[in-house]
Order: sequence, then C-alpha cells, then structure tokens
Amino acid sequence: MEEKRALKILTDLIAIPSVNDHEADVADYLAGLFDGYPVQIKRVTFAPGRDNLVVTMGEQGPFLGFSGHEDVVATGNEKDWAFPPFSGTVDQGLVYGRGASDMKSGLAAQVVAMLDLLESGQELPGRLRLLASVGEETGEYGAAQLTSEGYANDLDGLVIGEPSAFDIKVTHKGVIDYKVTSVGKSAHSSRPDQGFNAITPLLTFAQRVQSVMAENDQSDATLGQLTHVLSQIGGGEQINSVPANAWLTGNIRTIPAYPNDEVMAQLEDIIEDLNKAGAKLSISYSYPEPPLPSQADTQLALLAQNLLKDTFHRSGALTAGSGATDASEYTKAGHLPIIIVGPAAGTTDHQVNENVAVDDYLTGCKFYKALAETFWAKMGNE
Ligand SMILES: [Zn+2]
Repeated sequence: MEEKRALKILTDLIAIPSVNDHEADVADYLAGLFDGYPVQIKRVTFAPGRDNLVVTMGEQGPFLGFSGHEDVVATGNEKDWAFPPFSGTVDQGLVYGRGASDMKSGLAAQVVAMLDLLESGQELPGRLRLLASVGEETGEYGAAQLTSEGYANDLDGLVIGEPSAFDIKVTHKGVIDYKVTSVGKSAHSSRPDQGFNAITPLLTFAQRVQSVMAENDQSDATLGQLTHVLSQIGGGEQINSVPANAWLTGNIRTIPAYPNDEVMAQLEDIIEDLNKAGAKLSISYSYPEPPLPSQADTQLALLAQNLLKDTFHRSGALTAGSGATDASEYTKAGHLPIIIVGPAAGTTDHQVNENVAVDDYLTGCKFYKALAETFWAKMGNE
C-alpha cells in the first residue's frame, strides 16, 4: 500500500476520540476499510456505542490472530499538547495524538498488513483474524467478552500490537485490585460500648494481608516476585463518633507461580477468619487479570524474533511487559501462543504529546504482513 494511504489510516483512527468509550466509531471505520474484500466481519457489542470488531480472512491453513484495543485514555489538559490530541498532526517525522502510540499505530499497522495481503489477489495459504477490543484501558473486558464467546479458540497464535519498540514481550504480571469494606455501628465516642468500631478489624486485616503476601517466596525468573501495595484507606464520620464504616484498597501484581486464584483464596481466608471473630468485612475485586506465562519458547516468538532481527534490523529482544494487557484474557482460551509486539516506542503512552515515529509505524505495517506470511509458511509445514 502507498505510504500516504497507510498513514491516513492511522491519522483517521487518531481523529476518533474513543476515550474509554465510543469504540463503535472505531469499529465502523475499520469495517469500512474492508468493504468489498472477501472477509467476514462481525461486530460483538459490549454495550451501546461499544463494539468489538472481528475481521476474519482466508479459508484454511494456520490461523494467526492480530489484536489491538480501540479505546484510548483521556487527554489530560488539552492546552498542554503541542497539537490538538485528536488532530493526528504529522510533524518532523512523528505522528502526534492520543493513541498514536497506545495503540492506534499497532492496530492500524495490523489492518494495513491485512489489506496488503488481500490486495495481493493471491489465494491465502492461511487464515488471519483481527480482534479489535473495547475497554482495554479500563479492565480488558472487551477481550474477556471475545474470549468467552470463543473468538480466540481456533487461533494457532496471537500477536498483540501494543507499543514495544519492536521488542517482543513474552510475559507479564497479572493484577488484582481489591477493596475491603468494614461495617460497624456508630455511637458517641464517650460510650464506645454502645457501638462497634469498623476501623479496628480493618487494621487487623491490613496487618495480616501484608504478612501473608510477604511470606510467600515464590519467584519468577523474569518477573520476580509478587508485589502488594495497600493503596487507599478511609473511614469514620467525625472525631468523636465510633466509626460505622471503613474501607481500604490494595493493588497486587501477580506471577504465574503464585497465581490469582491462590492469592484471592488467601485474601478471603483472612476475611472469613476475622468475620468469625465478629467483624463484618467484605471484599470485592475490580477486573482481576491473570499473568501471562512465558511465551519465550513458542514458535511464534522465535519466528517474530528472527524476522525482526534478520529482515527488519530491529530489536526482536524477548522481554517482560510491565502491566496487564488483553493477553491476560486471551490466554484463558488455553494453549494459545501470544506475543506482544508493536511499532511504537511506548515512551509517551498516557502522556501529553503522545506520538509514534512515521518510520516505525510504516515498518510495523511491513513487519505484520511478513509475520503472517512466515507464520503461514512455517506452521503449514508442521
Ligand atoms: Zn494499550
């Protein structure tokens, strides 16, 4: 495809303000690009105005998946931007805008690769599916929906186009955000015997959870140990009342050797124990995500690495990601090799003046196309 047209697809995508919502506009735009081609297009609605998009091409053979999220984070103060955040301004070799890096450049490059393969007019020796998701930035629930509805089941490999500067992220930690609330009974603080202090059992929980998390010495060769941070605490109404309510939150980053189920069971054991002793504690979670076990030994990772190093003279280093991605959900499809590799540097994500280098983006378009062709050729011979 002409570079000008490939670039326009990126800047058009940036111009859609899909800030934690409105992903249907992105889905509509992408679906329109495939008009007239032999593909199957499926919108998977999460909520009104929020459509995941699935585009499938090819009839038989090895089945590769491309994945990108359609949403972006908020802009922050627009006045702090050198160019308006949804303008997609190209300046001195960089494309600026919210999502330029995270991750409309990855998504656009995957789509350009698919269009290039379709425009070759050749019969395809394999299959390719784009999974464009909603809500990645606020809980990966689009990918969760696509996974539970089976869209990742038949795939032989999946490539997530998050910014990685052409490193290949083959593992990352999971996350558990939890909130514990404590219910007591208020009373005048001069008569504490008439009330029940909601703060007291919460403090006991805080101490117990810290020692339980610290006791576990499981470690991952790449990711290190689980981390736990008590991140917020609140409660009580005023200085001379026995508090009737209290709460705290914690953030846990999990590893494959000490997985989410085990951690959550331990949290719940502490709660149960304290409740037996008279507390009224309850725990809730906000979109817990499992870790991505290492994919370093998969064919997919090695193919991508060789291609990046030999053909594109880019990094191809196998590294660990820093946070949960849609991979946390897709990995639940089971036995699915997943790598995270994208063209953007990722140094300006979630910041003002987010950008991607034009050259990196265009290389990404060619890399994804070559990866699909290599994957089809290699996996077809196995
Ligand atoms: Zn992202």
